Amino acid sequence: MFLTTVLGILAIYAVTAFWFHRRYPEVMWDWSSINSSDTQFPKDFVWGSATAAHQVEGNNDNSNWWRWEHEPNPKTGQSRILNGDKSGLAADHYNLYREDIARMRDELGIKSYRFSLAWSRIEPEPGRYDSEAIAHYHDVIDTLLEAGISPMITLHHFTHPIWFEDLGSFEKEENLEHFFRFSERMFSEYGSKVSQWCTHNEPGPFATMGWGLGAFPPGVKNIRRMANVIHNLMRSHLGVYQRLKAMPGGDQVQIGLVKNIFQFDPYRRWNLIHWALCRVLDHIYNESIIRFLREGVFKLRIPTQANINQAYPEAKGATDFIGLNYYSNLLITPFANWEPPFKPLHRPGQPLTDMPYATYPEGFYRALKRISTIGRPIIVTENGIADAKDDRREDYIRRYIYALSRAMRDGVDVRSYYYWSLMDNFEWAEGNDMRFGLYAIDYTTQERTLREGSKAYVEIVKRHAHS
Ligand code: BGC
Repeated sequence: MFLTTVLGILAIYAVTAFWFHRRYPEVMWDWSSINSSDTQFPKDFVWGSATAAHQVEGNNDNSNWWRWEHEPNPKTGQSRILNGDKSGLAADHYNLYREDIARMRDELGIKSYRFSLAWSRIEPEPGRYDSEAIAHYHDVIDTLLEAGISPMITLHHFTHPIWFEDLGSFEKEENLEHFFRFSERMFSEYGSKVSQWCTHNEPGPFATMGWGLGAFPPGVKNIRRMANVIHNLMRSHLGVYQRLKAMPGGDQVQIGLVKNIFQFDPYRRWNLIHWALCRVLDHIYNESIIRFLREGVFKLRIPTQANINQAYPEAKGATDFIGLNYYSNLLITPFANWEPPFKPLHRPGQPLTDMPYATYPEGFYRALKRISTIGRPIIVTENGIADAKDDRREDYIRRYIYALSRAMRDGVDVRSYYYWSLMDNFEWAEGNDMRFGLYAIDYTTQERTLREGSKAYVEIVKRHAHS
């Protein structure tokens, strides 16, 4: 009897593990038999590069992040940023944008540039708009257009004014009105010149880092509050989408959400505890957001913390494109370290990047397939590698772009690709050591140098521009 029960339990365990294993394969390709230059892209495919205001502009001193960088953690007395780094002057892109745009045109040959507006510069106090800051972005946009580069604007890329932070930012539904007002104002300024708009950059990381892990401002560790923030960010996306669409010219532009996908894969593929954790994390971080746009329902269930199930019929398909940011998968065990600095697990044959991510181009293919279930054209709004030594960048670029081409060959509708990042930037909690740039920045002279590894991207852009 005892033996039969044990055997029965083992059989159920094995069947369940096998089911998960088949249902969520961790795709791995044999790279020794792949020619990563074997890529095809349609003629009108757009190649670009991306940045975000706070990470490159410098001196964004009225933003929630600036304050966060300058206030030590009261519990430890230590800076919240690795090595005590600060964004400071960053890449001084606020002043050097003209030469940066010339490089995009002359050296890179890219046709689109994704950047974000620094809300904290533009609206330093609620309802007061700074005409100089507004004029600045007009200039950036005009310079891009003159260079034949189409601008893509992100309205919210992790940072906002201190006053908005102090109101409780996206934790309070009533605060969304402030973001709606800002977005409408920006659209009335730039809508006739800019045809692609991103509402929010990465609701998942913004909420989990800020309210789950406490590594981003406001530094909260509370799952219930985090769930509420994800919910509000989706409401916010929908609100901005509907409002801008209703404005003059709204139907002429494309407006979309930017979704980051990390796959949560079990470190031990036969361990049901690993699987259970992965499915919970995926439900919170990926599926809640994807489902909102695919089905028009916001569902987030976290035992004892959150039980949200709300229909938003008008949210179904409320994104003209879906932006995908993809870097890697995360291998999960119950013993994973949830405090920065994070230590990534990886499989043999997967080189690590300087960020806590492994190289996983196959995951890019998986993410593209998954995000395509929303049923909207895809724009790869970010993909790139932190590689200070520049000894992995070339392979990374070639393999990820191969994976992109393979997904498109298999029917996924992708319209453009933006390499992250145009230049080295302030990498949030990881500070200034993470060198994502196509261009290396010398922070003492502000000199820009195209990295050797980045030339693979230039070559790909050239090859496909003329094919
Ligand atoms: C963010 C960027 C960041 C990049 C690399 C994305 O999550 O949108 O701001 O620099 O990842 O970590």
